[in-house]
Amino acid sequence: MISSRTVRAVVQRVSEASVRVDGAVVGSIGPGLVVLLGVGCGDAEADADYLAEKVLNLRVFPDEAGQMNRSVLDVSGGLLVVAQFTLLGDVRKGNRPSFVDAAPPEAASALYETFCAALRAKGLPVGTGVFRAHMDVELVNDGPVTLLLDSRRLFQEDPTVADCIFCKIVAKQIPAKVVYEDAEVLAFEDLNPQAPTHLLVIPRKHIATLNDLAAEDEALLGKLHRAGAAIARTRGIAGSGWRAVMNVNRDAGQSVFHLHLHVLGGKPMGWPPFPAA
Ligand code: 5GP
Ligand code: ZN
Repeated sequence: MISSRTVRAVVQRVSEASVRVDGAVVGSIGPGLVVLLGVGCGDAEADADYLAEKVLNLRVFPDEAGQMNRSVLDVSGGLLVVAQFTLLGDVRKGNRPSFVDAAPPEAASALYETFCAALRAKGLPVGTGVFRAHMDVELVNDGPVTLLLDSRRLFQEDPTVADCIFCKIVAKQIPAKVVYEDAEVLAFEDLNPQAPTHLLVIPRKHIATLNDLAAEDEALLGKLHRAGAAIARTRGIAGSGWRAVMNVNRDAGQSVFHLHLHVLGGKPMGWPPFPAA
């Protein structure tokens, strides 16, 4: 059974929306998405990040042919995020909803902020309500188009996340010695180091190999390399020398199919990197 404790969102496509507190408008958007967000007990940042990424990429806006093909990113739409703990309400017993599955306010507020920050990082206009205030939410649902999202359901059923060891490290489901992380990349110590310094820099997003890189990932690849160089400086090997390696597929020795940049250094390394035939 799917746990009822999870970050949940009701996403509505709107032509306009606003939130008022005590009669004053505190957040408003034009065309875009209204996200009612509920945080469950035991939710982690990975749930909020995952759901934010999902919301940003939901294809619910029409293309020229009138098909639902464009995301809020594609149409530069607005986002209005309103905290809504009643989404965690459980009405299986009796008729009075129980909220024992909702996260306590401090934890919920932190993940609500994480979620909003992930949206803002994309440069879209993001409006919000006021956490725990009584709010009047007004919106014009365009369609109507309304979707129900559930982070753990998405997470657990996403075959890449379920099967990929590095996605599990991103999701903090398995431990790693993380030395750097930001919204897009993560760097950690290699479990089986081949040099005095051996770190792996990976994108949060699952990309299997360099062969699978899309045009939209060009900037991300640059970030991986810049993060690698920053780590090399921190480790004091930028001047002596270090190697950036990406193995692609079997003959190159790729064993984990989630893109990763090896940062190797701290000793002289040979070239070519393979034994002579
Ligand atoms: P590849 O052979 O795919 O280029 O590199 C995969 C690297 O990931 C290897 O150097 C291996 O030691 C490392 N690795 C594999 N599993 C784990 C893990 O669970 N944790 C960490 N920190 N490194 C791992
Ligand atoms: Zn992965």
